Amino acid sequence: MRNPLQSLCSRPLPLLCCTLLALAAGVSSADAAPDTHAAGPRRAEIVFLGTAGGPLLRLDRSRPATLFQVDGHDYLVDCGIGTIRRMMEAGIESGRVRTIFLTHLHADHDLGLADVMANDYLHEDPAGASGPIAIYGPPQTRELVDAAFHYIVVGFRPFAAQNPAAYHLVNGELADPFIAHEFDRDGMIFRDDSIQVTAAENSHYAGVPMQRGYEMKSYSYRVRTPYGVIVFTGDTGPSDNVSRLAKGADVLVAESSSRDREDRDRFIEAIAAREHWSPRRIEAFRTHFELQHLDTEAVGRLASKAGVKSVVLYHYAPNDKSDQAAYVRGVKKFFAGPVFAPDDLDRYCMSSGTIQSCSKH
Ligand SMILES: [Zn+2]
Ligand SMILES: [Zn+2]
Repeated sequence: MRNPLQSLCSRPLPLLCCTLLALAAGVSSADAAPDTHAAGPRRAEIVFLGTAGGPLLRLDRSRPATLFQVDGHDYLVDCGIGTIRRMMEAGIESGRVRTIFLTHLHADHDLGLADVMANDYLHEDPAGASGPIAIYGPPQTRELVDAAFHYIVVGFRPFAAQNPAAYHLVNGELADPFIAHEFDRDGMIFRDDSIQVTAAENSHYAGVPMQRGYEMKSYSYRVRTPYGVIVFTGDTGPSDNVSRLAKGADVLVAESSSRDREDRDRFIEAIAAREHWSPRRIEAFRTHFELQHLDTEAVGRLASKAGVKSVVLYHYAPNDKSDQAAYVRGVKKFFAGPVFAPDDLDRYCMSSGTIQSCSKH
């Protein structure tokens, strides 16, 4: 019997049809990114897939997502909208990332997860030999991951019905390769042959009331690699707990939601006018920015207090074209070490605790 997809394949769309047929057969598409890391370079590399903060979408910067590679192993921190496209642009196959860390579950940091999971799922071994994909995060991570899997399998069921041998089925249902690991306290949350990850709760949700029993926590991560220590602040306001976590780190990857007070106020006024916010909502948003995010002065003070070697900024919230040099200058008023302000797809390499740009574009 003719495959229904074949009947769709007429002259104008041969490439699309070939791709659809390959997908239906569970075969990796021919345009999958090349495996550029098979040899496993002996260094750590950080790839900034998304450098924008929320809440508005923008064309020039994707939502927060940072990939780091250690000895050829890939790990992802956060997964905002646009992550999968940036991974493709960076030449990174999402299926290579078997471990994902979520700092917190704000929408700008997690709404790209289903896209990444769907692409992972497409390339899973039908015999189940690919192994699990682990997603670490605060309370409600399991709910998020389970919901994302249920969302994506609806679209895969017709392919599996046509070609069951191409899919890993358990009792007739599509097998779920995603495992959520929730944690709700400070301490080591992950360890493998290459890295060790320690989490510390930060101040990003400080004062947020508990909603109907849902526990909400936001974490910063300290990642020990053979080539140096990286600390990811995630989203946070000033926090002694983060200062302690970052003590003596080689690289502090810090959110920098605004350059300074004027920058922040301009952004708040612009978004309030666009969204027709009430004065009360404007004040709530201003308080959120002041207490639960960092500007360049707060980043510089954090970096100095923790005695880190270098700082890399991201999570720029203002929607105007960011003046990267101004961000760097703002931090340098309070911190003497190297400071970088990357764009999307910028890469940094770390060996012996020293970081430098190794962008390929
Ligand atoms: Zn954010
Ligand atoms: Zn946030």
